[in-house]
Amino acid sequence: MTEDRQKFIIDLERLNALNAEGCAACGRKFALGEPVVVACGAWEGGTKVVHENEAVFDRNTQSYVERRCYAARSASAARG
Ligand SMILES: [Zn+2]
Repeated sequence: MTEDRQKFIIDLERLNALNAEGCAACGRKFALGEPVVVACGAWEGGTKVVHENEAVFDRNTQSYVERRCYAARSASAARG
């Protein structure tokens, strides 16, 4: 998967589909036209959709990672 395919803008169809759960990172609902990304994080169940500014693109894995999760990984990598 490329960076582009993991990033999109919320349209009406996605709004309806995603707002049952909301954003996995901050818990807020999405709004029409917001940029979002598919990211992995410290939650259960694999990748989820979060606001773009709450995730970091990890070039090593070519995927988005939720910011707090990314920071924790970087810290443990620095220690190791
Ligand atoms: Zn969010």
